[in-house]
Amino acid sequence: MDYHPEVLFDELTIKNRIAELGAQITHDYAGQEIVVVCVLKGAFVFCADLIKEINLPIRLEFISLSSYGDKTASSGEVKKNLDITGKIRGENVLVVEDIVDTGLTIETLFRDLSSREPRTMKLASLLFKPEKLKADVDIDYLAFEIEDQFVIGFGLDYAQRYRELPYIGVLNQA
Ligand code: 5GP
Repeated sequence: MDYHPEVLFDELTIKNRIAELGAQITHDYAGQEIVVVCVLKGAFVFCADLIKEINLPIRLEFISLSSYGDKTASSGEVKKNLDITGKIRGENVLVVEDIVDTGLTIETLFRDLSSREPRTMKLASLLFKPEKLKADVDIDYLAFEIEDQFVIGFGLDYAQRYRELPYIGVLNQA
């Protein structure tokens, strides 16, 4: 792999789309508080930008899941590395994810969080790759749908690298 990602979505396009999602979320939850659950590590950049566009009282929680290791194909196993610290019972939970691919990660997470009896639970995702979807997943707030290709940047990694890129890109095989 060479360090020459091709730009798929540039900084301004992402910023504008996140502003639209933030406005929609603000509208949908008007007059209510939400608990945002940021799925680490990949969603941290998206989540940081998204919460700044939501004009509501927010409590922020982090959860860390991994399914990939250092490979670019899903292992199908979802491991919880870190759990949220606050209670979500009776709360409006908005899970913020980087990308839904097979959907197994989010399905596992939703099952886990549902058992803690939130009042409502919705999903915001930066990206969605519909081609490999295996689970029953509804994305309430989606920034971009993409083809089945491995993307990096804006929080997303390849072997823990490229997260710092301000755009979403595709790695070209060198
Ligand atoms: P799923 O369980 O939906 O198959 O996979 C979700 C997780 O796999 C994401 O949270 C992300 O960590 C990882 N993933 C899936 N596709 C990609 C991709 O194209 N690029 C990167 N960097 N990670 C991906």
